[in-house]
Amino acid sequence: MNAPLPAEVLKQHLIDPEICIRCNTCEETCPIKAITHDSNNYVVDPDICNGCMACVPPCPTGAIDNWRLMVRAEAYGVQEQLGWEELPGEKALPETAAALPADDVPAATDLAAPAPFSAPGATVPPWSAAHPYVNLYTHKTPMTATVVGNYRVTGADTESDIHHIVLDFGELPFPVLEGQSIGILPPGVDAQGRPHHARQYSLASPRDGERAGYNNLSLTVKRVTEDHAGAAAHGVCSNYLCDLAKNDKVQVIGPFGHTFLMPNHPRANLIMICTGTGSAPMRAMTERYRRRIDTGENGRLLLFFGARTERELPYFGPLMKLPRDFIDINLALSRETGQPKRYVQDLIRERAASVRELLADRNTCIYVCGLKGMEVGVLDALRDVTVQGGQDWSILHDALRREGRLHFETY
Ligand code: NAP
Repeated sequence: MNAPLPAEVLKQHLIDPEICIRCNTCEETCPIKAITHDSNNYVVDPDICNGCMACVPPCPTGAIDNWRLMVRAEAYGVQEQLGWEELPGEKALPETAAALPADDVPAATDLAAPAPFSAPGATVPPWSAAHPYVNLYTHKTPMTATVVGNYRVTGADTESDIHHIVLDFGELPFPVLEGQSIGILPPGVDAQGRPHHARQYSLASPRDGERAGYNNLSLTVKRVTEDHAGAAAHGVCSNYLCDLAKNDKVQVIGPFGHTFLMPNHPRANLIMICTGTGSAPMRAMTERYRRRIDTGENGRLLLFFGARTERELPYFGPLMKLPRDFIDINLALSRETGQPKRYVQDLIRERAASVRELLADRNTCIYVCGLKGMEVGVLDALRDVTVQGGQDWSILHDALRREGRLHFETY
C-alpha cells in the first residue's frame, strides 16, 4: 500500500498536446468538469481534478495519461497549459518531498479511488478483439498517404456531400482494425498562425484494406458547410479532403482507438446503430463479415441506419445489394417526402423482439456511431425493449459495459 503524498506535493494530471487529437472525449467524460479547452489545447485544471481516472480509458490516443509530481503551489495553471506546444519535462522536487522512498510515490491509479462515473458505453474492448496498434504515426512523425480514390456517395442533388476517400500507404506499415480511426493533418495554419490540428475520421474499410490485400484504407467524410446550429461554417479538413484529387498526398497520424473494436470470435453478433457518416465503422465491420461469408463463422448482423433521405444515406446502393440473410437492414429516414419522421431509436423499438433476442446472447456486441444527440435516445430505446421483456436494464447495461459489449462513438 502506498503512503499518501505530503499535502504540499501534487501528482498533476496533464494532457500531451503533441499527441492529443482534440476529439473532446475527455472533456465530455470528466464527471467534475476539470477539463477545458481553447482553440489550441485541452487541459486539466489542477484546482478541480481529483485524479478519478474516469477520462483515461476512453481517450483514443493516450494523450490524457500524463502526470508530473509537483509542489502544489507551483502546479501548472490552466492558462499556462493552454499555451503549450509540448509537455514540460519532469521538475526536481525540493528535498523534503523528494526524500520520499520510491514506493511512497503513488501510481496514477492510486491517486484516489475511482469515482463512480456513468459513461454510457464500455471502456474495454470485447474480450476477443484483436490487438490494436495506436499512435504509430504522430504530429511529429506523420505518414504520407496517396489518394487513390475520392467519390461522392450521396445523391448529387442533395445537401449532404459525403465522400468515400481511399488512401494508400505504399510500402509503409499502417496496421488498423475496424472501429479505429486516423488523424488527418490539413495543410496550412489556423487564425493564430499555428499549423492546424489533426481531425479524426473513422475507418470505413476492414483491417485487410479497402481492397483486400492492399495497403490502403477508406474514410467517409461529409463536407462541412454549417455548424451543428445551422450557421454557415467552413470545415477546414472536410473541405480539404472532399476536394482532393487522385495522386494527391495527405499527412496521416494514428491509428487511434483501443475499445470500439469488433469481437474476433466465431458467431459473434453485431447490432450496429448509426446516423450519417457514423456509418463508417459499420461499413468496415460489415465488410469484414462479408469477406468471410462462406466460412460459416459469421454471427448475425442487425443494422439501424439513420439519414435524412434515401439519397442522403451514404453507400445506399451497395448496402441494399447485400443479401437479406447476411444483414438485417433497418433504415430510419427523417426527412423523406411523404413519410413520417423516423429516428434509429424508433426502429429499435419496432424491432424489439429481435433486439431482445440478440441482447440475451453474450456473443452480441452493440456499436453506436454518429450524432451525439442520438446517444440518449438509443439508450432509452434499449432500456425500453429490455424492460418490456421483463428484464432489469441497469443490470444488463452494467454487464454490457463491463464485458466490452456496448460502444459509443458520437460527436
Ligand atoms: P445528419 O445528416 O445531420 O443526420 C443523420 C440523421 O440523424 C438524420 O436523419 C437526422 O435527423 C438524425 N438525427 C438527428 N438528431 C437525432 C437524434 N437525436 N437521434 C437520432 N437521430 C437523429 O448526420 P451527419 O451530418 O452525417 O453527422 C454524422 C455524425 O457522425 C457527425 O456528428 C460526425 O461527427 C459523426 N461521426 C463521423 C465519423 C466519420 O468518420 N466521418 C465517425 C464517427 C462519427 P434530422 O432530420 O432531425 O436532422
